[in-house]
Amino acid sequence: MVGDGPVGAVGRALDQNQNGAKQQNENSPKGRDWAMGMKFVIELPDDPTTEPLKPGTVWHTFGYPEPEIFGFLYVHPERLVSVGIFVPSWMSDPSRTAYRYLQHFIQHPALWRVLKNGTLRSWGAKSLEETGRRGEPILSGDGFARIGEGSGSTNMLTGSGVDEAWTTGMQLGEAVLELLRANMPFSKENLAATYEAKRRSSWVEQGAREAENARNGFHRGIVRGMFGMALAGLTHGRFSLKSHPVPASQQIHRVPPVPRAWGPGNTRHDSQLHQAATRAISENRPLHDALLSVRGWPEIPFDGRLLVTQQDALLIGGKVQAMPGFADHVIFRDLKLCTACSEKTCVAMCSGQAITQGADGLPTFEREKCVHCGGCLWNCAQSPEGEDGNIAFVAGSGGLHSAEN
Ligand SMILES: Cc1cc2nc3c(=O)[nH]c(=O)nc-3n(C[C@H](O)[C@H](O)[C@H](O)COP(=O)(O)OP(=O)(O)OC[C@H]3O[C@@H](n4cnc5c(N)ncnc54)[C@H](O)[C@@H]3O)c2cc1C
Ligand code: SF4
Ligand code: SF4
Repeated sequence: MVGDGPVGAVGRALDQNQNGAKQQNENSPKGRDWAMGMKFVIELPDDPTTEPLKPGTVWHTFGYPEPEIFGFLYVHPERLVSVGIFVPSWMSDPSRTAYRYLQHFIQHPALWRVLKNGTLRSWGAKSLEETGRRGEPILSGDGFARIGEGSGSTNMLTGSGVDEAWTTGMQLGEAVLELLRANMPFSKENLAATYEAKRRSSWVEQGAREAENARNGFHRGIVRGMFGMALAGLTHGRFSLKSHPVPASQQIHRVPPVPRAWGPGNTRHDSQLHQAATRAISENRPLHDALLSVRGWPEIPFDGRLLVTQQDALLIGGKVQAMPGFADHVIFRDLKLCTACSEKTCVAMCSGQAITQGADGLPTFEREKCVHCGGCLWNCAQSPEGEDGNIAFVAGSGGLHSAEN
């Protein structure tokens, strides 16, 4: 039973046939869509002057802090609030940085009025495979079957993945028991006749089909995207917008080549990069962070309680369990591509600041900081071949999903 989620190495290995080529079903996309989901768990003060939020309250947002970013706020008992954002792969801006965007998000006046006196209790990040059934891999083979998000079960119309993952797991569990009782082998045919048959006739499949093309419009802008979702939702998937998604690496806009080393005569874009690079070095901060400041985003007023640096959030957020004795699980496949890469989106997006730019300009990886969000897998701006970017994300030790998250 393979249920290793959207970026699981076992599931992705099963996507390859013995010759290393992709083997997927007829729905398999040329390009998958992803999002980085990042959230804070915040404890609100027991303060009668602060507006109370009722447990069970759910707010969903879109369009802030960038047009492409969706957000949410859930209120739990005991004054705990989960608040987070999704930064999608179809956001073409190469300065993707979920952490800083999340800090701007919670400071939106509508949220800040209730959150401002809170304390950060926990933090986490996780990739979401947003292709749903359109990205469904081969579900079963001799001796294995796939369940959950890695099997394309997440419903991208309702944004629901947990119930679907559980249900596909139960369907496979029932199928396994049936086969055991009948003393039949776990062959591809038998798993298809039991597990896949249950799944195809269930509400998971019905929802997945309705949602299959619901997100298509987003590849051509937020307005088309919202229209496409409404169309698919209102017609239960009978009508939807057409789309030809490309691999995530190709959804990132290219930074125009620098005509010569930093200096006069460069384009405005390059000069912004130059300013950002100078600030990043002089202020000892990450380049993408400096780039957002240069582009006019206000600085984050760190308070050591709720607005803290990304490194402090790492320490608060959960358990980074990179055990000694394991090989690196993030590998830069072709360093020549990294040398030529102007976007360096792997650095900007890295949820744990585990990927940084070294003195030689090449990205470097620090295993101890990695939170296994899988973002680097789909945030590389270069692709040596096909759908995969220049980063190999293999099975490793550790991972961060704090219990509170
Ligand atoms: C910020 C955010 C908010 C969300 N909100 C909602 C929501 O409100 N409602 C909803 O329904 N869905 C929501 N989702 C989606 C939902 O979380 C996923 O669809 C769901 O978790 C998928 O479940 P899964 O079991 O298939 O995969 P996962 O939850 O990703 O679980 C896979 C597990 O496999 C483990 N694993 C991977 N590789 C290995 C290995 N080699 N060995 C051992 N273990 C391994 C991983 O550590 C992980 O624990 C949200 C997602 C995010 C990121
Ligand atoms: S890993 Fe990808 S995004 Fe990062 S520097 Fe190399 S080519 Fe660029
Ligand atoms: S290096 Fe680790 S923390 Fe950084 S993006 Fe990759 S998986 Fe996430």
